[in-house]
Amino acid sequence: MTIDIGSPLLLLGRGADPASERGVNCPGDLPPASDPALVERARAAKAALGDRLFVLGHHYQRDEVIQFADVTGDSFKLAQEAAARPQAPYIVFCGVHFMAESADILTSPDQRVVLPDLAAGCSMADMATYDQVEECWEALEDAGIADDVVPITYMNSSADIKAFVGRHGGTVCTSSNARRALEWAFSKGSKVLFLPDQHLGRNTAVLEMGLSLDDCVVYNPHRPDGGLATDELRDATMILWRGHCSVHGRFSKESVDDVRSRIPGVNVLVHPECRHEVVQEADHIGSTEYIIRMLDEAPAGSAWAIGTELNLVKRLADRHLDKTIVFLDKTVCFCSTMNRIDLPHLVWSLESLARGEVVNQITVDAETAHYARAALDQMLALP
Ligand code: SF4
Repeated sequence: MTIDIGSPLLLLGRGADPASERGVNCPGDLPPASDPALVERARAAKAALGDRLFVLGHHYQRDEVIQFADVTGDSFKLAQEAAARPQAPYIVFCGVHFMAESADILTSPDQRVVLPDLAAGCSMADMATYDQVEECWEALEDAGIADDVVPITYMNSSADIKAFVGRHGGTVCTSSNARRALEWAFSKGSKVLFLPDQHLGRNTAVLEMGLSLDDCVVYNPHRPDGGLATDELRDATMILWRGHCSVHGRFSKESVDDVRSRIPGVNVLVHPECRHEVVQEADHIGSTEYIIRMLDEAPAGSAWAIGTELNLVKRLADRHLDKTIVFLDKTVCFCSTMNRIDLPHLVWSLESLARGEVVNQITVDAETAHYARAALDQMLALP
């Protein structure tokens, strides 16, 4: 295990002006991070809530939080787990905003989904807003191709975007089933609008479906008509939204070359949210669940460089001391929004629930939930 994460993490969101932080809503009684009783307090609140509480922990969460998760997983697995617990009135989602929205959509109306820090968003999901996607669709209509286009949105998108896709007969996908989603979409139409992660869309289309880079165009929501001429839209098979993950987007071809020179024989294993030139250089590509499985099954003594979020890589390195597991990049890079969920926020939300006070509840309005659910159900029905 060769990861050195240096000094302890800064506790994001603490000591700053709350008004400067979008969505922060911890009125007054967030416990100090220095409180030595935080772990004990979280345990006590969890015990007091008993079966009324179900805590979900995304793989990218900090260890201090993940220790309290009843189940860990990627965003889709966690939403399914929430839906499978109708007896728990409180779901505390240790993840980011779009995940809590999906959990709210998939759980019963009586269940409350709580996000311990409302500022835990996702920069990728924020790169596609409803108005921008509406505008894009109008550009497709103006180009006369909207009827040929099937929209697909990655799970990492807001409920609004999932609902847009549901209204237009499309589907949600995850990094595990993106190929199946594309195959399904191409059986219904000749073009796909892929939201919001251009890299997952491009990597799946080119590396798994045999399309060429020339079949793909990138729609930039910050430019008129996406920065594309009508002919470019008409000729494209994949219309990729110009969004990306700020964590996975950091890995470069140089990171791969560098780790190969430092660790002879290393296996490079990356997430498909990485840039195309990175996945092209990698030995293995797959979702977080795939990465976990690969390392669980890897032989002792093997060496791995992993291109995904650092909390997960560090946890895997700690779990497999018989293997060399390193972070693909030399620069330490956590998902800063995932890291906003820390022990003080978790304790605050659990203790509030134990008092009968629901804080930071995530709710999706009925109409949005209806259409977003249609897109999620379509994903579940993928062949
Ligand atoms: S790792 Fe990337 S995609 Fe995942 S929550 Fe963080 S910013 Fe969003």
